[in-house]
This record gives sequence, structure tokens and C-alpha cells, in this order.
Amino acid sequence: MEVHTEIKKRVFNFGDRSADGNATMRNLLGGKGANLAEMSRIGVPVPPGFTITTEVCTEYNQVGMDATIRLIREEVETSVKNIGKIMKAEFGSDDHPLLLSVRSGARVSMPGMMDTVLNLGLNDRSVESLARLTQNDRFAWDSYRRFVQMYGGVVMGMKPRSKEEIDPFEEIMEEIKQDRGIELDTDFTTDDLRLLVRRFKEAIKSRTGKTLPEDPWEQLWGAVMAVFNSWNGDRAVYYRTMHGYPANWGTAVNVQAMVFGNMGANSGTGVCFTRDAGTGENVFNGEYLMNAQGEDVVAGVRTPQQITKLGSERWAVLAQIPEAERRSKYPSLEEIMPVVYQELFEYQRMLETHYRNMQDMEFTIQNGKLWILQTRNGKRTGAAMVKIAMDMLREGLIGEQEAILRIEPIKLDELLHPVFDTKAIKKARVIAQGLPASPGAATGQIVFHSDEVGKFKNAILVRLETSPEDLEGMHLANGILTARGGMTSHAAVVARGMGKCCISGAGALKINYRTRTLTIDGREYHEGDWISLNGSTGNIFEGKVATREPELTGEFAQLMKLSDRYRTLRIRTNADTPADALAARNFGAQGIGLTRTEHMFFEVDRIKAMREMILAATTKGRRRALEVLLPMQRSDFEGIFEAMDGHPVTIRLLDPPLHEFVPHQLTTQKELAEDLHISLEAVKSKVAELAEFNPMLGHRGCRLGITYPEITEMQTRAILEAALHVKSRGITVKPEIMVPLVGTLEEFSSQRDVIRETAEQVFREYKDRVDFKIGTMIEVPRAALIADKIAGEAEFFSFGTNDLTQMTYGYSRDDAGKFLPIYLEKGILKADPFETIDQKGVGTLMRIGVGRGREIKPGLKIGICGEHGGDPASVEFCNSLGMDYVSCSPFRVPIARIAAAQAAIKKQAGNS
Ligand code: PEP
Ligand code: MG
Repeated sequence: MEVHTEIKKRVFNFGDRSADGNATMRNLLGGKGANLAEMSRIGVPVPPGFTITTEVCTEYNQVGMDATIRLIREEVETSVKNIGKIMKAEFGSDDHPLLLSVRSGARVSMPGMMDTVLNLGLNDRSVESLARLTQNDRFAWDSYRRFVQMYGGVVMGMKPRSKEEIDPFEEIMEEIKQDRGIELDTDFTTDDLRLLVRRFKEAIKSRTGKTLPEDPWEQLWGAVMAVFNSWNGDRAVYYRTMHGYPANWGTAVNVQAMVFGNMGANSGTGVCFTRDAGTGENVFNGEYLMNAQGEDVVAGVRTPQQITKLGSERWAVLAQIPEAERRSKYPSLEEIMPVVYQELFEYQRMLETHYRNMQDMEFTIQNGKLWILQTRNGKRTGAAMVKIAMDMLREGLIGEQEAILRIEPIKLDELLHPVFDTKAIKKARVIAQGLPASPGAATGQIVFHSDEVGKFKNAILVRLETSPEDLEGMHLANGILTARGGMTSHAAVVARGMGKCCISGAGALKINYRTRTLTIDGREYHEGDWISLNGSTGNIFEGKVATREPELTGEFAQLMKLSDRYRTLRIRTNADTPADALAARNFGAQGIGLTRTEHMFFEVDRIKAMREMILAATTKGRRRALEVLLPMQRSDFEGIFEAMDGHPVTIRLLDPPLHEFVPHQLTTQKELAEDLHISLEAVKSKVAELAEFNPMLGHRGCRLGITYPEITEMQTRAILEAALHVKSRGITVKPEIMVPLVGTLEEFSSQRDVIRETAEQVFREYKDRVDFKIGTMIEVPRAALIADKIAGEAEFFSFGTNDLTQMTYGYSRDDAGKFLPIYLEKGILKADPFETIDQKGVGTLMRIGVGRGREIKPGLKIGICGEHGGDPASVEFCNSLGMDYVSCSPFRVPIARIAAAQAAIKKQAGNS
């Protein structure tokens, strides 16, 4: 191909408070280059440099090294001279050497793709000048050692050749450390460093056959070409392919003057934040060290000092250091370099105002001169995220929509559950890891059996996995830990619903129920031992770790109100008890999208009647047991209707396979036989009879109501009698009865007829009526496909995306934990489809379901009640399908509210 040699700008300069480029030129200059240009343009002192454009990378790939150098030589030479002028040094000079850094920078950040070469320009002669100019031999030789190491690795390919091999330079360093009997890099003397440089160079020569160039220009071209090559390196190609970034984007190369914070007492380096990243408070803060390099601040060898006087005073109080000692030993930058501090203060204001976001900045002071090396939007906690967005809105820095879009919905979780004390968690020992199934922090004593949770005031229930039998124990425990199961295992779903901390699938746990021991890596823990769980990270800690209650700040409430003004989706909750319903209403739920009635049957007084019903040999026997259950269910529903005070409440008829309700342990089977005055054999044979090969595809859902209509009758009666009772107390009730697991129209209509007949009977008996709706879950793929037929008879649809995902993929919800992690690791799946809706597959069925349903009934009310209802990406998808509501666990309601507002804002922006 023909390369354009006509005048085309290929090199863009920045520095000295001006720049050829700006922030909008990401595609040409890469993210880093555009940002450096922007900073320089607005007057921030960045070390001067230049960016070779991404287009040159593409040209390089077509014409090769020599032709590329011809294309850019003149511009690069001029730019390098320019840098030298600003820095009062000269590239290639032995006496006053200008040192450079060379970095890649694609238009999007590609972590791990690119390498960096620092201290470029050093050679056997200039290292001596550097030592002389800085009066610091060790510094000069350490800089040279780092350069040879980086150049050797990045440009000359001195990298480990296999996973087993260690870095060739590290190997040499280890050898010398052993010889010298030292441990740390900082223990190397200048002579050691000289030796290292020599040994590194010899190693390069013997492995590559090439000599490390002494000529700075040869070094520079080598480094520039290495950055271009890295665009086609294995790591970059993998990353690009994964994200669908085209090969012709290319990477830019950024060349900058090196600045040093370790040149003596008048130099230093630090990191600072324009606001507090932990609390969001609008206070400038940060840490620095004099006579140090960037990595020293984070390495923890020396104690970094606070930048501001206020920060320093606060720090000293915590560290219990008297004021006089603080001032002399740990002064703030504000106190020891007031002029530089003032400059830094002004730049941080300027950068925050410019980027309209909290900034995380790196700076270096070289011989009293301040340089800003980098600025980026700072990472922050959930609390800080909310406070900063709302403060910036108030300050007029951002508008309402932007404040909403600034929120990472999932991070709100941190504000909704108890959290570990930051200091305590740092000291705690991690003993194993599992899946972060339900966020929050929990500390308690180990207990292995659900019916024994009450033994301890603070208990952590540790199980291989949980089943509905464990429900009460789970309720009582502070947290739940399971060795098996994934993010939608029973333990995970139930715990999230309860807002209870849970870690599932912690494979390293060996649990012995008999001896009541838990073994991790050969270490034994017994019943009663204290452990702590971080349900947000999946970390399991030994012992007690202090927790604190979450604080719902004023800004959090304001944010929620604001987002309600933008969202069009309504937010409901999945709640099975009045307490959950109330908690959800406090978080802003506008109704219940799913009450799983089966959960009510597990409480001690009810499970017996339920088992009696299941074990009954005749319809009459079943009816007798159901009559015992009726008042219990009715009072549950009354509580929920009252809590929801006029908001719609969707109650689902019995769904799980009956075998889940019968006891599987011999002792409980014996108890049951005695209670019911039947033989143990009879109990055992019924349990055996209920066993199924694929219970999830077996006798469950509406199949139960069709085979035992008396169950549907009892539940309908309980719902409508409760509604009439509550109505008589002057409270509005809006019941919605939902039929689960429908796959054919006939299944739905048969259940609907039972419900209607029962309703008429109840209304006749009470001489009163309530309006109610009869609808269906859409959770069997066939139901989505025949949605037009079903919509003719159903009054609402609710997508049960847990089962819909299970059946669309053919992945068992309870067994997927065995292979899903591997699928995710290997990239066979990009995300866990039980967590976030698979829009291509399951989503297509949903689109069909919504489309066909509304074709017949344009106003058909449609929602979602699977776990996905609380996942922000899924909420956005539901919004795009035009659903009426999403329903999620109580503790996810605020997340869904903000996600729905974001979805509405984005949709509007897309349409306009
Ligand atoms: C579903 O399948 O999405 C659902 C909400 O029901 P369950 O999780 O109870 O099967
Ligand atoms: Mg289901």
C-alpha cells in the first residue's frame, strides 16, 4: 500500500502549558496521550513530551520499521529537542543527559497489554553524569539497573519463556542477594547495582546474541517499535478479540521527560485525591514522601506523610502521636513546602473542575519543581460515590442526569448491609474463599445443624448446601456458609432475599456433620469456633471481626428521590413475610412481584400439617390437613397485605416438588411417623415414592395444582379471605394470584377455573368481593413461544427468569456450580446467565413473550420476578422491552431504582 509521505502530522507535542492535541482526540492520540495534552493545554505542569499517533502504528504494520522511522524521524527529533529545551538537558548528551519514558496508549485502556520503558537515554557514560549531577551514585546506578532490566524485557525479549521459568533478571538479582546475604532490593549497594547492570547485559547478549544499545537514539527507536509490536502481541490480540476492538485502531506511543522525586531533600513524590475516596467528604487529601520514587509511597517500607496539615493532624490523633512530634517528624507538605503545596492545591481544584469528577492524581517534586504525572477519575466506596455525585450536583458541577449516571448501582449494596470495620478487616486472617453470594458482613460461632442455630446468640450456619428445611436456621443465623452451590443455589437466593450475608460454593471446606468439624487446608475448626464472612468479596476469616451498621446518609435518600423522577419502570419486591415486605417498602418498593408461598410452610408449626397433607393417601385426608394450613396462610397474607398498604401483591401458588417438604433423616422420619400415628415404613415408602430423577422438571409448579386441585383451592381461599379481612379494616388490597410453571394454555385455564370457582364461593360466603387478577409466570420456554395464546386468558405475565434460564440453557440451577466457574474462566460464557440475563438467548424468548402477549392484549401488565430483577444490566434490558416492573429482593430495591432511572435516561438519549 501507498504510504502518505505528504505533510501529515504524526507527532503531537505537549508540555510547557500548551499542546498540539486535546482530550477529544482519543482515537488519534490514545487515551493517555489525549489526557496528557489536555492537562498541558489547561496549564497543568506535566513533564513535557510528545505522542506518536495511532495511525503511525497502522503504517508501521504495513511498511515496517525503517520506512516508519523515515516517516517520523524529523518530527521526533524536533520534539525531543523541544523537551530538552524545557528540561534544560540534552538527549544523547553525556554531560547533561535528558532521560525519557516511553509508554503505550491505545484509545481504550487495555490493562496488561503494554509495557513501559523508563530512564531511557542512560548508558555507561551518562550514568556517571547523572551520579555527578545528583550527587547520588546509588540513585544513578539504580536508575540504570532499572532501565537495562526494562529495556531488556520489553524491547529485547528477555522474558520468561514458559510459565515455569522465572524472569531471567529476577533470577540474577536473587543469586546476588543470596551471595550477599540480603533480602530486599533496597539493600543493594552501588557496587551491587554496578554488578547487576553488567550481569544483566551479559545475560541479554548470551540469550539474544545482541548487545543492549549504548546510543540513546537507537534505544529510543527500539522502544517505540517495541510498543508498536506489543499491539500485535499475544496478550493484546487476546484482549482485543475478547472486546471486539479492531486491529486497525493501533496504539499511540507517549514519550515524556523523566522526572525524579528521589534526587535529594528538595524532591519528593505523592498521590492525592480531590475528595475523600472513603467518605466522599469534599476535602483535599493524600500522601507523600520526600526523596522517594512513586513506588516507595505504596510499598509501605517508609511511612508516607499526609499532604495537608488537617490530614496530618487527624492522622497523628489516630496514630497517637503528640503534636510536637508530628510537626517535627511527620510534617505535612503544606507545612514544609507551602509554596509547592499551594500550587498543588490549585491544580487539584483546576483538574476536578475541568473533569467534573473526583480526581486521583500522582505528582513528583524534582528539586522544588512540581510536576503532575497523571490524573484520573478516582475509585471510591459506595458511600463516597453517592455523596460525591450529590455534592457535585449541588455545587452545579454536574446536572441531575449525570449525577444519576455517575452511580454504579451494584456499589449501593455497600450501603445496605452491615459492614466490617475497615481497620479490623485489615488485621483479619483469610482462611478460604467462596462465591460472594449475598453481600454484607457477618461474625459468629460455627454451627452445622439448622435446628441448633439457636444455641448461639451469634451463629454462622455452615452447611454443604442448604435446603428449605434450613430456612428457620438461616433466618436465625448471622450468616450462611456453604461448601457447594452457585450464585442461585438455595442458600444464595434465600440469603439475598433475607438480606443475610452468605458465601456459597467454598470448595476448600471439608465438612463433617458427624464430628461437627470443618477442615480447611488441614486446619480444624469446631462447632462454637468464631469465624467471619464478607459476603461482598467471598472472603472467610478466622475469628471475630468487628462490624458496624450501615449508615443511610441524607444524600442516599436524595439520590433515590431524584432517580424516581426519571425512571418509568416500577420496582416491586420478592417478599415472603410481612417483615421483608416492610423492609422493601422502606427501600421504596411499589408492590410485591413474588411471594413464594412455600416458604411459609417450613416454620415449625406448619411443616407438620404440610407433611400430613403430603402423606395423606386420599383427597379427603389431604383436605383435612389443608384445613389446618388455611388459617396460617391466611394470617400470613393478611400481614403482607397490611404491610403493602394498597400496593399490588402477587402471590404465587405452591411451586416446589413435594419431596422438598418431607424429612430425609431417619430421626425426623421416626418423629413424623409417631406424630401421624403411622408406621415408619409408611413414611419411608412415601419419601421414596416422591423421589424424582429430575425434580426441577418433575412434579412441581402448576402440575401440583392440577393433580391436587384442593391445594390451589386452599391457597386461593387463604389469599381472598385475607384480602376481605384486610379490606374490612379499611385498607385497600390488590391481590394478584400467579400460576407457576405454565407451558400450555390448558394448564393455565384449568388452574384459572379452580381459582375463579373458589373465589366466587368465598365472595358468596363473605357477601363481599375484592378485585383481583389471575396471571401466570412465563418461565417455561414454551410459554414464551405461545404467549399470544396465554395472553388471551391471563391478566398478567411475570417472567421467572431463573427457571427460564435453567430450561433455555439446560443448566440445572442447583448443579451449575460445578461447571459455570470453569465456563467463565475459559470464556465459554462471558457472564453467569443466572446473574445477568442472557440477552441473546433467554432475552430473545422474553422479547417474543412480551411481543406476542401485547399483540393480543396491548395493555398486558408484564414484569419479571427472577433473581435478574435486581441486576442493573437486566433491569436495563427489561426497560428496553417495555416491561411495567421489575421485582427483586428487598435489599436490591434501591439498586433497581437507580438502574431503572439510568435505563430510562439512556433510552431517552438513544431515541433523541
Ligand atoms: C423463577 O423461576 O425465576 C422464579 C422466580 O421462581 P423460583 O426461583 O422460585 O423458581
Ligand atoms: Mg421458577
